[in-house]
Amino acid sequence: MTPDSGPANPSAEAVRLNRIVEGIVSIAAGNLTSRIPVSPARDQIDAVSTGINLLAEELDDIYRDLEQRVQDRTQELREAHAQMQHMALSDPLTGAGNRTALMQAAEDALAVWNVEQVRDAAPAVLMVDLDGFKDINDSFGHQAGDRVLQEVATRLLACVPGDSTVSRLGGDEFAVLLPDVSRMSARATAERVQEALGFKMKVEELDVWPRASIGVHLAEVGQSAKDLLLRADTAMYEAKEDGPGLVRLFEPVMLYARQLRRKMSSDLRNAVERNEFRLAYQPVVDLVTGKMQGVEVLLRWEHPTQGLVMPDIFIPLAEESGAILGIGRWVLRSALEQLAEWRKAGQDQDGFHIRVNVSPSELQSMDLVDFVRAQLRETGAAPGDLTLEITESAFVGSGDVETYSMRSIKALGVRLEIDDFGTGYSSISYLRRLPVDTVKVDRALIAEISRDEGQLQFVDAVHRLIQAAGMEAVVEGIETLEQAELLQDMGCCSGQGYYFSRPLTAEQVGTLLASGSRLPLATELLA
Ligand code: C2E
Ligand code: CA
Ligand code: CA
Repeated sequence: MTPDSGPANPSAEAVRLNRIVEGIVSIAAGNLTSRIPVSPARDQIDAVSTGINLLAEELDDIYRDLEQRVQDRTQELREAHAQMQHMALSDPLTGAGNRTALMQAAEDALAVWNVEQVRDAAPAVLMVDLDGFKDINDSFGHQAGDRVLQEVATRLLACVPGDSTVSRLGGDEFAVLLPDVSRMSARATAERVQEALGFKMKVEELDVWPRASIGVHLAEVGQSAKDLLLRADTAMYEAKEDGPGLVRLFEPVMLYARQLRRKMSSDLRNAVERNEFRLAYQPVVDLVTGKMQGVEVLLRWEHPTQGLVMPDIFIPLAEESGAILGIGRWVLRSALEQLAEWRKAGQDQDGFHIRVNVSPSELQSMDLVDFVRAQLRETGAAPGDLTLEITESAFVGSGDVETYSMRSIKALGVRLEIDDFGTGYSSISYLRRLPVDTVKVDRALIAEISRDEGQLQFVDAVHRLIQAAGMEAVVEGIETLEQAELLQDMGCCSGQGYYFSRPLTAEQVGTLLASGSRLPLATELLA
């Protein structure tokens, strides 16, 4: 073979071409850093090889860039996920955990305990519910309320053991999970919480001393996280009932009481249709003459199995479930019908009027005014025959709807009265802005006036303030002649209480009206 008749070195060329093929295969397989060797000849084969190498380099750059971007995105996603998880487990207002976090912590603690089961120690839940928080919120605004909740969370976190989970379950309700404690140390922690909350808080110029009702429950064998929470919550409810500021450890009988309340609450829904409600009437009396000026209408429930149930027990349940709206209407309607009956029988006296209790949620319903107007028309009563008693707390927290209700009721000519005055936070100057005619001083204020000179002076001052604000005062809970006389000396005109008369039946009121008797009567006359 002559040097001109073919490739200079066909085998060497084949080897080089082979290398190109191998190189392409390697690059195609993803090995972007592999390069095809280039010979010093710089011939056409080298040109192809260099071209491929450049392409591979380009690809490698693009690939690295892509990889970096994927990594960045993955990191971002990971962070977002962690943040979401944090958000899903924490309460945005206070930074404490939320219900999910508590449940998770309780489940984890139970799982560990179920394996190890140390005697005398177990996971425990403290259910912490602030006392009177609604008043703080209503009187000082939501911002102040939020600040209090944040401060409470901070204090809780500071005073419980490091391995606890502190959560806010909503509103003013907090819970603490202690993963592994004895009964004694669970109680001790609850007491430390009470103590920590008891210190003064400064909230926007205001001094607040929050208190809490605390329910405690230590896990028992076989209980789930839900069981734990339910029991701690039930104990908290009991603490609240007897409180404020108490700690209660769960006992099984409490669960029974809770079931009973549930049952009662559901029975309440049908009580109107089943005709189980009765009305009692307590005279409001002219303190000087003993003449009955009117009556306060008080609701009674004849429960088919539990017998007579008093309103202090069932009204809060009815408020909780919303059943109060229907019940309240029944009360108003029946009371006005009763008034018409007394009138028909000619038993009515001059100026005799009825007072009906209206609950805060009734005041929130837009059509209360229409209902009152319609009932007055249908029963033939004059607006002046009716006074609606509304508790102080309902006034204090009142928003637009309540203010609308009050003003429209007042415009009808129906009188409005503040009930239980002196138990809440309102001041007389605040009340002046509301369309109120009379103020009923709570019995807690007068209970000690015959024994406590300071208290007597306090009631005197309250009475004068009410008068100065252009309102009338009524005093409730007068139980003794001495109290009646002291109030009379003060210049109080109207009052009500066991001293004058217990709540009566409609017939008894009818008899009193017909006879025009002064109160108090000798009790046998009413028997
Ligand atoms: P209240 O409006 O403050 O009613 C006065 C309560 O004090 C009545 O209890 C009455 O029997 C009691 N009382 C009267 N005189 C004396 C006394 O001299 N000493 C003592 N210790 N107590 C006295 P009652 O009938 O058990 O009612 C309790 C509460 O239930 C009422 O407090 C009121 O807030 C609510 N309530 C009653 N009826 C109704 C109703 O029809 N609707 C609504 N929303 N609430 C009602
Ligand atoms: Ca009342
Ligand atoms: Ca009252």
